[in-house]
Amino acid sequence: MTTDYILETRDLVREFKGFVAVNGVNLKVRRGQIHALIGPNGAGKTTVFNLLTKFLIPTSGKILYNGHDITAEKPAQVARRGVVRSFQISATFPNLTALENVRIGLQRATGTSFHFWKPERSLDVLDDRAMELLETVGLSEFADIVTVELPYGRKRALEIATTLATEPELMLLDEPTQGMGHEDVERVTQLIKKVAANRTVLMVEHNMNVVSSIADTISVLQRGQVISEGPYETVSADPQVLEAYMGN
Ligand code: ADP
Repeated sequence: MTTDYILETRDLVREFKGFVAVNGVNLKVRRGQIHALIGPNGAGKTTVFNLLTKFLIPTSGKILYNGHDITAEKPAQVARRGVVRSFQISATFPNLTALENVRIGLQRATGTSFHFWKPERSLDVLDDRAMELLETVGLSEFADIVTVELPYGRKRALEIATTLATEPELMLLDEPTQGMGHEDVERVTQLIKKVAANRTVLMVEHNMNVVSSIADTISVLQRGQVISEGPYETVSADPQVLEAYMGN
């Protein structure tokens, strides 16, 4: 089923022992867009991500993916549908090279690693694809570097490459530029733009320069509720948003 919205939540609620962390969130993520979820600390962004990837069960409400009700599905089922969170299934192995990590990502994604190990040619095919993915994220020259030795920003790029190996339809990025210096922020911002060319991206991001430069739609969360939504020009001029960021 094709709908304009790849992902929708309807009155999504999550309580923690009576504390309402997510309080009736209605998100609509349009197919093909970069959609940013922003808001002050404690607003409920991580909880929403955990609900979407099924790491948490909602207290009430619904999650629809491509029009299907996925509220009751397990994390693996949702991942198989193509909803993949970077840094979740893609944790890299520190003592393997960048290439080996992406290769493992590809083997995992196909779910048929055994099949790939038999004929030598298949391994070559796998490595060709792994190299392509490394090139996509700007890591070609780092292919043989052991992951633990990669600079921080490059490690995050590698995590994006291993996530891309699963060919996600909707990629969830959890603060992709967190802790990065200016140069890495710029590189990862461009990378997100690139990977979003043929998929939908939903990201939690604090860096407003990043959000304003690449997000098509922004949802602003405060105390578990969406208080503003739209393009950057709209939400950044919304008095409620200004108050949310200055108040508290
Ligand atoms: P954000 O990601 O926007 O900073 P979170 O989703 O992490 O916000 O948290 C939203 C609120 O829910 C916070 O007040 C936080 O303390 C609370 N919270 C999150 N997870 C739990 C939990 N497992 N148990 C109790 N409270 C939680």
